[in-house]
Formats: sequence, structure tokens, C-alpha cells
Amino acid sequence: MSEESSKVKLPEFINGDGYQLTSLDKVIGLARSKSLWPLPFATSCCGIEFMATMASTYDFARFGSERPSFSPRQADMLMVMGTIAKKMGPVLRQVYEQMAEPRWVIAVGACACSGGVFDTYSVLQGIDKVIPVDVYVPGCPPRPEQIIDGVMKLQELVKNEPMRRRNTPEYKALLASYGITVN
Ligand code: SF4
Repeated sequence: MSEESSKVKLPEFINGDGYQLTSLDKVIGLARSKSLWPLPFATSCCGIEFMATMASTYDFARFGSERPSFSPRQADMLMVMGTIAKKMGPVLRQVYEQMAEPRWVIAVGACACSGGVFDTYSVLQGIDKVIPVDVYVPGCPPRPEQIIDGVMKLQELVKNEPMRRRNTPEYKALLASYGITVN
């Protein structure tokens, strides 16, 4: 990574004598985007790619995500990696429901995105059948660079998300379409 691309782009400020102004949305968005705690929901081979992404060569820690959470209550970013059987669907949804808002989801690999090569009676044809997805990472399996690219795309979404988005009727309607109630 070049030195230029590794720099964090700061929000726009209005500068004056002895003060600097910006919006709370932008500051909170920046902080959230650089501290996404992942919950790895790995069921098969794509999970191995995630392990490589966490290891020293790719060093996921550079993105503020070095702390995997195996408790949904302390995670922001659900990363679903692997084949999800239909029987697993309710479990995945329960994990999602236990995450606190704001929460984001990445579908990693063809299986999580669409069922992949497993067009069978027992495999969920994409996790977006049971939970909303923010970013899809294609590939069978995707390389660690692709997983990192997906996380960086999510960081852009997080950075630009208005703080009140989770209270909007549109967001509540999205969750309701999945049968998920908002607390
Ligand atoms: S997308 Fe390919 S590599 Fe990933 S879990 Fe499915 S079969 Fe395995």
C-alpha cells in the first residue's frame, strides 16, 4: 500500500481563527468506518481465506478490524463466509438480530452471495434471503485482496451513512420485509 493511499482522508472542515467546524455525522462516520469489529460467520472454505486475510501478510488490523468478535453483541460487521444450509438460515438471522445497531453485513464468496455452485434443495441461495446485505464479495473463493476490497467498500458506506438512517421509515421497512422487528 502506498504511503498516500494509507492516509486517512479527513472530513471537510470550515477553518477560521482558532476554530474548525465540521458535522457530527462526518466525524462519527469516520470513527465508525475505521473501527469495524468483525464477526466471522464461517462455515466452509471461504473461512480459510478470511484466516489468511487476518494473518500477517494481509494484516486486517490495518483497517481497524483486528478484533474479531464471537459475540454478536460486540460486533459491527457480520462477515458471512461459506455455504449456508437452509437449516442454518434461522441461526444466521438470530446472530444478526443479536447485533446492536448500527450493524453491517458482508456476504463473502459465491456461496454466501448466491448459493454458489450448490444449486440444491438444502442450500440457501444467498444470505440475502434471510438478512439484508450491504456488500457482496464475489469469487469461489475470493482472494484476501477481494475480501479487503469488500471491507473498504463497506468503510465508504459506513463513513457516508447519516446517523439517523437507522431511524428512518425506509430502514424499518427494509427490516420488516425480512420479518425482523426493530427494538
Ligand atoms: S464460494 Fe467456493 S470457496 Fe467459498 S465456501 Fe463456497 S465453495 Fe467454498
